[in-house]
Amino acid sequence: MKSKASSTNNLSWNSGLQHLSTNPKKPTKSIQKLMDANICSIKDLVWILPLRINVLPKLQEFSKIKISEYFKGRATVINIDLKPSFGKRGKNKVQLYNITASVKDTFSNGYLNLKWFNAYPNIKKQLEQIDEFEFLGSVTEYNSAPQIINPTLNPKSEEDLLKEYPTINGVTGNNLKKIIEKVPKYIWETPLYYFSEDLACELKTQNLNEILQTMHGFGDYSKKLQAKAKEHLIYFEFIRDQLKVTARKMAIKNVEAQKFKITKKSLKNFIRSFPYKLTDDQNTVIDHLLDDFNSGHPMMRIVQGDVGCGKTTISQVAALIILENNAQVALMCPTEALATQHYNSFKELFSNKYKVHYLLGSMKSKEKKETLSQLENGEIDIIIGTHSLFQSSVIFKNLKLAIIDEQHKFGVEQRLKLMSKGNATHTLLMSATPIPRTLQLAQYGDLDISTIKTIPPGRKGTKTRIVRQDNYEKYLSFIMTRVKLGEQVYIVVPAITESETLDIKNVEELSLKYKQYFPNLAVSSLHGQLKPQDKHSVMQEFEKGNIDILISTSVIEVGINVLNSTVMSIYNPERFGLSSLHQLRGRVGRGEKPGFCFLIPDNKLSFEALNRLKVIEKSNDGFEIAEADLKNRGEGDLFGTDQSGNLSSFKVASIFENFDLFQKSQADVTRVKENKPELFNPLIEELIKDKKISTTI
Ligand code: ADP
Ligand code: MG
Repeated sequence: MKSKASSTNNLSWNSGLQHLSTNPKKPTKSIQKLMDANICSIKDLVWILPLRINVLPKLQEFSKIKISEYFKGRATVINIDLKPSFGKRGKNKVQLYNITASVKDTFSNGYLNLKWFNAYPNIKKQLEQIDEFEFLGSVTEYNSAPQIINPTLNPKSEEDLLKEYPTINGVTGNNLKKIIEKVPKYIWETPLYYFSEDLACELKTQNLNEILQTMHGFGDYSKKLQAKAKEHLIYFEFIRDQLKVTARKMAIKNVEAQKFKITKKSLKNFIRSFPYKLTDDQNTVIDHLLDDFNSGHPMMRIVQGDVGCGKTTISQVAALIILENNAQVALMCPTEALATQHYNSFKELFSNKYKVHYLLGSMKSKEKKETLSQLENGEIDIIIGTHSLFQSSVIFKNLKLAIIDEQHKFGVEQRLKLMSKGNATHTLLMSATPIPRTLQLAQYGDLDISTIKTIPPGRKGTKTRIVRQDNYEKYLSFIMTRVKLGEQVYIVVPAITESETLDIKNVEELSLKYKQYFPNLAVSSLHGQLKPQDKHSVMQEFEKGNIDILISTSVIEVGINVLNSTVMSIYNPERFGLSSLHQLRGRVGRGEKPGFCFLIPDNKLSFEALNRLKVIEKSNDGFEIAEADLKNRGEGDLFGTDQSGNLSSFKVASIFENFDLFQKSQADVTRVKENKPELFNPLIEELIKDKKISTTI
């Protein structure tokens, strides 16, 4: 292995990356760029793995040349053509050239062109001085003849591997390779630990340095060794993740939290005040909550269940228990409309005894100030708001319960901020995106999960149909019929994240069309650039029934509950994940009237894409749909960009592709936890020291 000695020889895995520069005080530009991209230590650097490692070919005659493969040959120069190029280099603006060397094979009568673009003219000199030389490079095709661009001349024989690294923050793969080669040999030979040595030995990950070395193609090389190393690395990534998750779960048990109880009578009276009987699943989840609040440790629970299964009711019971114990509750939602809706329903339930208030981005500053001070002095018992709740100006007197609705809409960091506003705060997350069973442990291993499967009785449910060009007319007349019956219609177009202007255009264009289709109906539209007050008033008008057809982008409203709306039409459904479609249609068919969902795809939709949509037509089970989504789109998509949880931090592993290894890592970590729990102590201490538990999810 090649390794240029750096200025010091007492580096370690944890040394800063600047130490790979000759002058660590003034690191090279490339190293600085890597550090800017958060690759701070040698340990971080070695996790940037080659995209590909090619074993270099043996010396061969030209007849063996294959396009897009590497070729190594020996040749003599026949002719060199030199043309000034447009490129100039350096301060002195040195003229650069495009150089073509026609060369003849030493072993046969074959010919080949070697090319350099924007090159220094000394390549010509170099070639003229040698009779015969070897060259190496990747073969491309030009005018149906093979050529090699930028070949390596007289390649060193010991360099028999060609490694291609990715470009990171503007540092090219080639530069990256050179920097990685600067990691001294003695470091590669030092064991590399991410957790205690004991734990690493127990889980057999103590030779991670060797594994990474193989991955970088240092030392012995074979495809088999590489494959084995990769498998090991994947296992290590799962292990590291599972350890974190398990340690967090154990650490929670070390945090004391006040016990919150409620008398049977108060609970019963409260539940009786709902205009309906709770479903069995709702009752079970309430039992979970009672146990959690009484455990003496912070609750970390996620309640998942389809749209309309009644998660709000659960959060209201949770709030009651905390309020009865004179502590504060915060409820965070992703949109102002949803916050307002929750505010109204919480106010109705609680305002006779407690002060319920809201905190929205659109509030006037005087009102906001007043709200903040009442929150700090404890006058407000329960606050409902949007992202504004986790700003640093928000201080609670005694926050004991943080409820986060539609939790998948929030990033992990945002959730943490809200939780850390209290001391040993209980956390209740609610999600309408079912987590497929295969993912539950990976994604929420440190949370307790409650699942609501039953949908309240009396719902007529939602029928779903795909609308194509030939039945579009029929669809429109159906809309007319529903509106004549006094029902309301939602129409959703996909949001185009890159451009809000395009979103508006889409919404406005469609709304114009609908105004033409139905000149006598009240058609309104809603998009991201409306002022919050305007959005609010459109929503209110819709709730009051003054709008027949509401057209909006999908980002606008989540979890909204207007029982009189029975039709949900989704344009370009092919642009949505299946789970999102399922959630969208869940907004209708919640009342006594049946719901209808129309998927109106692009006319040119492919057969596969159409088949994918048919899952929605056929199934009404959120879990089944989530699993189908998973198969179609992989883990990243299911959780979207907001979900910067554990999954995205894997560099080589994928739960789906490496499911066996994932299960093995789980089993191994569980075994250690059961047999040698003391090995977890350093991890737990670290979490507690960093105040990362009770706040970390
Ligand atoms: P989600 O789980 O999507 O948040 P909500 O809590 O908004 O669902 O409930 C949807 C609707 O169902 C609301 O109108 C709510 O009042 C009603 N609901 C909740 N629980 C029940 C129940 N057990 N029986 C009948 N209706 C219920
Ligand atoms: Mg909800």
